[in-house]
Amino acid sequence: MAKRYSSETYVQGILAGNRVMLSRAITLAESKLASDQELAQQVIDEVLPYAGNSMRIGITGVPGVGKSTFIEAFGNYLIKEQGKKLAVLAIDPTSQRTGGSILGDKTRMESLSVNPQAFIRPSPAGKSLGGVTKSTRETIILCEAAGFDAIIVETVGVGQSETAVHAMVDFFLLLMLAGAGDELQGIKRGIMEMADAIAITKADEQNVQKAKAARAEYQNALHLYPLAASGWMPRVSICSALQNSGLETIWQAIADYLELTHNNGFFEKKRRDQNLQWMYEAIRQGLEDNFYTHQQVKEQLPNVAEQVKEGKKSAFAAAAELLRLV
Ligand code: GDP
Repeated sequence: MAKRYSSETYVQGILAGNRVMLSRAITLAESKLASDQELAQQVIDEVLPYAGNSMRIGITGVPGVGKSTFIEAFGNYLIKEQGKKLAVLAIDPTSQRTGGSILGDKTRMESLSVNPQAFIRPSPAGKSLGGVTKSTRETIILCEAAGFDAIIVETVGVGQSETAVHAMVDFFLLLMLAGAGDELQGIKRGIMEMADAIAITKADEQNVQKAKAARAEYQNALHLYPLAASGWMPRVSICSALQNSGLETIWQAIADYLELTHNNGFFEKKRRDQNLQWMYEAIRQGLEDNFYTHQQVKEQLPNVAEQVKEGKKSAFAAAAELLRLV
């Protein structure tokens, strides 16, 4: 087990921008040990007043769309051109299966990973989506308290992780490939609706024309959606991470979005709603953990499940019987 310090040591280290202490506090938050969790909660509570002052940007897209190449290029842009301190986190519940997280590969984001203005943290391995989500939210707070004012949360555009990321960021950027044929095929409608901006990646060399055509199609598609509660009209642009082009336009969209939503109050409202959502989710997760770690439940669950499987007991009666144990 990692060495543990007093909560003041973590808090002071984090507030001083000490990356080692920040990393250790994140490890505590990711730990399954109850004593680590307790200490982590104490640290998070104490740094909370110093957190929140950042822009939280979610980035998603199918594998191969160019997420890590884009984040490397865009991250460097944010640091060099916008003077940001950047933390890059990942929601990757698949890391358990692949044995490495989407940010775990050392060759990804090479220049960012050695930049003192950037902090890259891979997704915790061996956790459920709920577990990953919880620790990523806590990691956002810890990073903000350590002075990181731009937080990028990356996720693979498959499964439910986009919804989880959307619920923890201010701005959601969807990366898309320009493909041949029907541009809208294969895109989950729900994800498009969540996007505050769409960027068509790899708009370079012979891809430029295709990318421009895709941009027009997505723009038309987005115009069919009703105006979002934020009052923001999502934008579509093209970019090339390899040529560092189109990054400024994407930044401008984020900056304009932030200005609009700060002015109309939506930014604050969304953050407050998200906080409430985090609380309810933490309650649900806590109840579930209590249930499944309860000694009698652990003993009786396999039997009862077997009876349900064999049709000897109804699913509802079985659930009620087990719930009564707690
Ligand atoms: P991810 O799986 O979404 O993280 O995608 P990667 O960033 O690993 O990129 C997938 C592939 O696309 C790699 O071979 C990259 O070199 C390539 N790629 C990424 N960005 C660009 C780009 O802007 N232009 C071109 N031509 N290729 C790119």
